[in-house]
Amino acid sequence: MPSSLSLTQDEISRLRADTPGTRTRIHFNNAGTGLISTPVLNAVKAHLDLEAEIGGYEALDAASEAYAEFYDNVARLIGARRDEIAYVENATRAWDMAFYSIDFQPGDRVITGRAEYVSNYVALLQMKAKKGIEIDLIEDDAHGQIDVKALEAAITPKTRLIALTHIPTFGGLINPAEEVGAIAKRHGILYLLDACQSVGHVPLDVDAIGCHMLSGTGRKYLRGPRGTGFLYVKTSILDQLEPAFIDLEAARWTGPDTYVLKPDAIRFENWERYVAGQIGLGVAADYAMHFGMDRISNRICALAALLRTELSKLRGVTVHDKGLKKGGIVTFLKEGETPAETKARLRDLNINVSVSGATSAQIDLPMRNLDALVRASVHAFNTEDEIETMVRNVSAN
Ligand SMILES: *Cc1c(COP(=O)(O)O)cnc(C)c1O
Repeated sequence: MPSSLSLTQDEISRLRADTPGTRTRIHFNNAGTGLISTPVLNAVKAHLDLEAEIGGYEALDAASEAYAEFYDNVARLIGARRDEIAYVENATRAWDMAFYSIDFQPGDRVITGRAEYVSNYVALLQMKAKKGIEIDLIEDDAHGQIDVKALEAAITPKTRLIALTHIPTFGGLINPAEEVGAIAKRHGILYLLDACQSVGHVPLDVDAIGCHMLSGTGRKYLRGPRGTGFLYVKTSILDQLEPAFIDLEAARWTGPDTYVLKPDAIRFENWERYVAGQIGLGVAADYAMHFGMDRISNRICALAALLRTELSKLRGVTVHDKGLKKGGIVTFLKEGETPAETKARLRDLNINVSVSGATSAQIDLPMRNLDALVRASVHAFNTEDEIETMVRNVSAN
């Protein structure tokens, strides 16, 4: 086990040597897609090659160990049991599989916050229109994180679910997921955590958090392949969910008129999948744990804090991250330039950043009179030098 709380220079060099994309670009778009590492790339390529050579079914048989390791590695990464993990093609569908599997009744209430992900929120709105659920949108506290006191006060006998996004797609905030979990536990309410931006970014332990369901993606801070994700469902609540869709993977057809659901989280999977991607995601989880998630996280947070500090020093640049605890996502605006222009200008200099717009944050950015923000999201393989180059180029022009 790594002893120090921060990565050594050797480890940072190793991270960079393992990350081909760092050779030609400065990648500050890890909240979009984290740069894939060589071990992940090799695992995906090797499986695709094997499929081409011997056939897809035959390749799966040959790779059954790597395929199974996906469950062990993701479970270990979040402190779950392997039979509580489902492979799903992305975090959105993983979240959907949990959400749409709850048997909502008219008048049921769902508690959520301003960080909620766009796709989750439109699903809440659809369930409101279709089933008559009510959404209790909790305000931020003075720090800009979800107000946990207001959250607890909003609970009624009709409250069915707390849906929280741990780290929003559009800012540095890290929501107090554990405090929310303690409240969910006290009141016996289902708790669904969107950990899409937080997995691979901060250490996660589902027992410490106290969530019953957690969704994650491969493509962002975990640095896995695109088109991969997972869902965690705690064994003790399996009976409270009826999978919204089932197929021959989720259920066994036991006779002309009968079927039984799989006994574990596999009931949330579907059969056909990107096998190379699932293997790659298992390798990505293992890769992150090799360095230690606490140490990866410490470096991400420290680099982002440095970037915020340096950007705030620039004339005409404003930083817009909320929250008591902040992670690797840094959002800012440069006077005289739209976020899209800043992004394009940096792209020409081989610096990747992204733009977060109101259409993915209707319950946050417009309330802060913001239409869009430049989003620079750092990872542990980034360097202080890269931050300096970025800051210099943001200011130049
Ligand atoms: C990106 C994102 C998602 C969606 O992830 P996919 O794997 O693309 O479906 C969900 N939640 C949050 C907070 C995100 O940032």
